[in-house]
Amino acid sequence: MNDTELLDLKTAVRAALPELVLLENEPMSRHCSFRIGGPAALFAEPATEAELLRLLAVLRERGVRPLLVGRGTNLLVADAGLRGVAIHVGEALGTVRAEGETLSAGAGIALAALAQFARERSLTGLEFAHGIPGSLGGAVVMNAGAYSGEMKDVVASVRYLDAEGTVRETGDPQFSYRHSRFSEGNCVVLSATLRLRSGDGAEIEAKMKELMERRRDKQPLEWPSAGSTFKRPATGYAAAMIDGAGCKGLTVGGAQVSEKHAGFVVNRGGATAKDVLALMEEVRRRVRDKYGVELEPEIKIISE
Ligand SMILES: Cc1cc2nc3c(=O)[nH]c(=O)nc-3n(C[C@H](O)[C@H](O)[C@H](O)COP(=O)(O)OP(=O)(O)OC[C@H]3O[C@@H](n4cnc5c(N)ncnc54)[C@H](O)[C@@H]3O)c2cc1C
Repeated sequence: MNDTELLDLKTAVRAALPELVLLENEPMSRHCSFRIGGPAALFAEPATEAELLRLLAVLRERGVRPLLVGRGTNLLVADAGLRGVAIHVGEALGTVRAEGETLSAGAGIALAALAQFARERSLTGLEFAHGIPGSLGGAVVMNAGAYSGEMKDVVASVRYLDAEGTVRETGDPQFSYRHSRFSEGNCVVLSATLRLRSGDGAEIEAKMKELMERRRDKQPLEWPSAGSTFKRPATGYAAAMIDGAGCKGLTVGGAQVSEKHAGFVVNRGGATAKDVLALMEEVRRRVRDKYGVELEPEIKIISE
């Protein structure tokens, strides 16, 4: 988008939504767990679903496709930033309610908060998600999972805005490994219902604690990252191959293949997106040479 188009867009958004929090040249590093990423020309923080839908309508009228940002825990945004619009689907869009064994929640709620909400009601099934640092929306898009649990096991239906601007609900999100029908980026996840089961509050709490301890033990949570850098290949495990190919501790600028867990690239201070991408390329090359396996990024690389 050029400067004139951006100015026109900003004027149109301000006219349609005078109350909307709309930041200009907002560093994406502030909104991504990697602490990397140049500025988004416009960064919107809708306070209600109605505001989000109105904003999306204004953008659609102008043919502008925004970047949706949940908790930014799976994103690598280019150093040059984004000459367009980023929309934060945050806590304001994350109200939750329970009805028996069913939870309905807005996309912006943190998975950790949702898992706690379930625990407080002695509902089991979401323990696996407690330590995943994303939002419900991001987790549905990614079919996030850990320790033998995945969103597909608990999500009963998803409300979303389709590419034509219609709010729809589906019981078939087409979940597969780290993928859903929303992964192509042309739909916006608004809310979801989750089907859980009645359980024992103390057991649920113990399970959540145990999984969190396993995470702290294995993962480099002390450094900024975007979680697992690569998807699990069809054969074997990415981290084992990366380690086996001699990449543990490999460093480009401020980016490093974690010494604690080779599946993570961490920001050891001042890493740029360029550093991370160069490091990922080198890791892929070494793994290809040693194992003949083509690693595919799990993190979403945003480069326009
Ligand atoms: C320390 C650490 C540990 C992690 N552990 C795990 C793990 O165990 N398992 C796992 O699966 N992942 C893990 N992750 C990755 C990440 O937390 C998940 O992928 C999570 O689901 C991303 O959610 P998010 O809200 O941060 O999404 P974001 O990173 O903000 O976005 C991810 C993608 O979803 C899109 N998106 C976000 N919200 C919406 C919406 N409402 N509508 C439409 N599109 C949207 C974005 O445009 C982007 O394409 C980890 C990350 C970190 C940093």
